[in-house]
Amino acid sequence: MDGQGQWRAWRARLRSARGLIAAALVVGAIMGSSTVIGRQSESTHDPYTAEAARGQRHRGATEPRPSATAARPSPTPTRLNTPDRPSPSTAPDGGPGPALGQVPQAPKIPDAFPERIIAGPGQPPLAPEIGGPFESRMTTGTQQVALTFDDGPDPTFTPQVLALLRQYHVKATFCVVGELVALYPDLTRAIAADGHTLCNHTWSHDIGFASQPPATMRAELERTSAEIHNAAPGAKISYFRQPGGEWSAGVVAVAKDLGMSSLHWAVDPQDWTQPGAATITSRVEGETDRGSIVLLHDGGGDRAGTVEALKSILPDLTQRFTLVALPPGDDPPRQTPAARTMSPREPSQR
Ligand SMILES: [Zn+2]
Repeated sequence: MDGQGQWRAWRARLRSARGLIAAALVVGAIMGSSTVIGRQSESTHDPYTAEAARGQRHRGATEPRPSATAARPSPTPTRLNTPDRPSPSTAPDGGPGPALGQVPQAPKIPDAFPERIIAGPGQPPLAPEIGGPFESRMTTGTQQVALTFDDGPDPTFTPQVLALLRQYHVKATFCVVGELVALYPDLTRAIAADGHTLCNHTWSHDIGFASQPPATMRAELERTSAEIHNAAPGAKISYFRQPGGEWSAGVVAVAKDLGMSSLHWAVDPQDWTQPGAATITSRVEGETDRGSIVLLHDGGGDRAGTVEALKSILPDLTQRFTLVALPPGDDPPRQTPAARTMSPREPSQR
């Protein structure tokens, strides 16, 4: 089954699971719980036709976990904080199981996979991996872990993140928004100057970006890369990340045509919902495994919790893993099925 087929299978399985949940919630609604009615509404709206809305930032890739739900600001905006592309269930076929609310299972990095340093120009390319939606990448394909920071540059939080990364000698990957690059070229240049990898995160962070005509997507991605190059001449932009994780086959194809690998993630602590530093810390430290690409945010809102969490996350992860920037310019072309080296759906053995 190709990656798109897997994604369809995820969706089908998820819809089946959501149907069961919706039925249970209807029963709950009949019993008079307004909370359940609201939840039913959330669980039955089609997650794949969410309207694009300017200013929307990352909506998580996962169903809200209980802790995340409890930590949300009240009143909860009906759309903005509704994760609209829940992760595929990792439960066995035939039922939702307890894993419905968990993040997608990233491809398992074999124990024996050779330890390789992948950071920086001139280093070996990433091992093939197509486990994410529409064959986007979820792992580094090696033992190393990659932190990624989205939605900046931000004049308040990006410098704090850069300082912490410097303190712990960690290189990371920053998925920047074109219009913010235009506003803060010095910050963009500072990211590159510190040895971090830059990733194209569209011009205006439109969640519906991936459903636009290919020519429109191409023009916006080119405009964003041009702005990055304007700020940081010579920076290689080898990665693209779709806002909100709302991937489509078309956007992956356009990005590939522009020389960019599509970058999903394996660990999403939903720091954009501002659940607090302790929650962000425990999620990242608990879910990060060999090869994980970790989604964090240095922009798009108040990221004080993320910055605070990094003060725990960085010393913890650097003891357990090697943290790397994704190698700019070194990602191999999209692999044929025969070249795939890892099963994308093996269960985690974390
Ligand atoms: Zn984003």
